Amino acid sequence: MPETIEDARRDLVLANRILAREGILDTHGHVSVRHPEHPRRFIMAWARAPELIEDADVLEFGLDGEVLQPTEKKPYLERFIHAAIYAQRSDVLAVCHNHTPSILPFSISRTARLRPVIHMATPLGGDIPVWDIADEFGRNTNLLVTNMDQGRSLARALGAGRIALMRGHGSVVVSDNIPSVVSSCIHMDRNARVQMQAIQLGEYTALAPGEIGRPWVADQPSSLDRAWEAYVSRVRDRV
Ligand SMILES: [Zn+2]
Repeated sequence: MPETIEDARRDLVLANRILAREGILDTHGHVSVRHPEHPRRFIMAWARAPELIEDADVLEFGLDGEVLQPTEKKPYLERFIHAAIYAQRSDVLAVCHNHTPSILPFSISRTARLRPVIHMATPLGGDIPVWDIADEFGRNTNLLVTNMDQGRSLARALGAGRIALMRGHGSVVVSDNIPSVVSSCIHMDRNARVQMQAIQLGEYTALAPGEIGRPWVADQPSSLDRAWEAYVSRVRDRV
């Protein structure tokens, strides 16, 4: 992970550009990084489209989800997702909230669950929870996580895991470093597409618990370094 705030800001800008380019974030959705020098803060852009984010857009937030410096910029409505997860999980250093279309069917299906079916998706873990905002907050919300109570509810559903789906909305993906969150989101998307195609073919074989429990090649530093270098090269001319 970056050791200085300058490095964290640079990697956060890159992560925004990469996740937009790779189709994980559209004009909405967001990615954040825990502050490397002040662990009870995190950094995230103001409410701007991820593909346009630059260093001047980055704001600091407290673990209550509030912006820490005076600004005219509007923060993302759903910043409480990030605040609640950083507050609950000291091991989490990076968070992505996305509305990736490929996972949405699995967030509303009453029978099919998203599960790792390809080896690069093993960091997602074997039991992927689906958080339904209506369970605690009723059927009259706009499905957005707009306060800390809702953020904490989602964080509880995430538990100690790496991903939680959000019913009819999207997902949250967490890790202890930025390249890992980016890679996990990209492979979450690929896994969902492959699983959906396999469902259309008929019966299929998902990864076994023992296969998911093996050391995760996709999360090894050498693998992440290789992927990050390539991802950065695709957006470098735009940063
Ligand atoms: Zn959202």
